Order: sequence, then C-alpha cells, then structure tokens
Amino acid sequence: MTAHEDGLAAVARLLDGGGVVVLSGAGLSTESGIPDYRGPDGVRRRAPMTYQEFVAGEPARRRYWARSHAGRGVIAGARPNAGHLAVARLRAAGRVSAVITQNVDGLHRAAGTPDAVELHGGLDRVVCLDCGARSPRAALDARLAALNPAFRDAGSRINPDGDVELPDALVESFAVAPCADCGGVLKPDVVFFGESVPKPRVELCYRLVDEGRSLLVLGSSLAVMSGLRFVRHAAKTGKPVAIVTRGTTRGDELATVRLDRPLGETLTALAATA
Ligand SMILES: [Zn+2]
Repeated sequence: MTAHEDGLAAVARLLDGGGVVVLSGAGLSTESGIPDYRGPDGVRRRAPMTYQEFVAGEPARRRYWARSHAGRGVIAGARPNAGHLAVARLRAAGRVSAVITQNVDGLHRAAGTPDAVELHGGLDRVVCLDCGARSPRAALDARLAALNPAFRDAGSRINPDGDVELPDALVESFAVAPCADCGGVLKPDVVFFGESVPKPRVELCYRLVDEGRSLLVLGSSLAVMSGLRFVRHAAKTGKPVAIVTRGTTRGDELATVRLDRPLGETLTALAATA
C-alpha cells in the first residue's frame, strides 16, 4: 500500500465515523476556474485590497468596484466542481456534520450545501457601511452596468475575490453606485484583509468544531489565522485533523493525516465509499 492510499483510507475512516467538520479554502475552487491567491508553492501572487484602503477614500473604492465589475462574469458564471459536489453528498449523508468555508464564491451553497458557514462572507451580496442595509449583488450589477455602458469585460487576470487587473484610465472613468437606500458607501459583504470576522460567526464555527469529531481541511494553506485557529483548537481538544491540500500548509504539524492530492478526484473517491 502506498502512503497516498494509506492517507486516503485514514480520511475515509474519519468520514465513516461521522461528525466530520470541513474547513475549505481557495484550493477547493480552483477547479471551478477561480484562482488561488497562493499557488501550491505557497507564494502570494498578488496583494488584495485591505479594509483600511477600501474605507480610506473614493479612489480606492472606485478601483475596487471597477475591477470587481470587470471580473464579475467569471465569478457569477463559476459552477461547483466535483469537490464541492462530493462535500454536498457527504454532508447530505451525515458523514460531514458542518461545512465552514473561507471562500466567498458561494459554490458550496450552489453545490447543495445550503448551511455552509461563509467565514469571510459572500460576493453575492453587498452591505452599506452607512445604514447597514444588505442587498443582492445582482441588483448592484445591473446598476453598475447602466452607469458604465462602455465598460465591458475589459480585464485580463481574475483574482479570487473576483476582480481583475485594469488600466488606470479605465478605472478613473468608472462610476460607482451609492447605497440605493441612503446614498452611503457600498462594500461587498465579505471580510477584507485587515478586517475581523464578526464575532458571532467565529463563535458559531468554534461551536461546530466542538460538536464535531474531527476536522477535515480542504484546499487551504491555512495562511491566515481566521482559519488556522480552528485547526489549532481542534488539535488542542484532541480531535483528529486531516488536511487534503496541494502544497504545504501552516497546519501540517497539527495534522494526523496529510494528503497532497487533487481535491475533486480525491473527494469524489471519498464520497463514493460508504
Ligand atoms: Zn445605506
């Protein structure tokens, strides 16, 4: 038996035991055409806009929304891949007790896991920083398209947060839409770098981990503390931690099982065992 088969059997045993809490990251969505900020080498490809930059002023927000609007088609058109579908089957079968995702692409829900906890929020909705109203991103998309008729899918490289690189002149010509209710500043309902995950959401995730029997990390390098803390918590409370991710992760020394394999194919194989 090879080490891979050994590891796969160990993850299958965890799933047979039930109560597996999944923590997923960008690596699970790359097969849906949404690239990771970090490749398998763990090296950051591009610095995302921080919360502090976003709230600092109009030019940064104009840049954010112009790029996000240009990349919207890719995100809105992305479909769940074999990995998301396998997780949904495992959740429906009760072998996975909860799904926590660091992804903002909504693909777990689209795959049929309606109760997936979106740790960092979701790109399918926006929030007003002034009045707090939340509204669907689709409504904003229509308003942005009407305000910027000459603006087409002008970008090239798409990033995981759903934006693309654009020439400065194009960014400067972009018209941003204010909150339809109060005229305030709209922000995607996602947790930016430099921003904290809302406390009730963090507490919910700790509770889900506490209620589970093991933790299964899928496609995350655990580079940021917002995900790594749950791995540390599970390990500290004596729960097995399995990690299926390309490349190394910050949680490797805490893992009882470590698999460096393609996510879609591996999860499909795991969901097929009963
Ligand atoms: Zn408002």
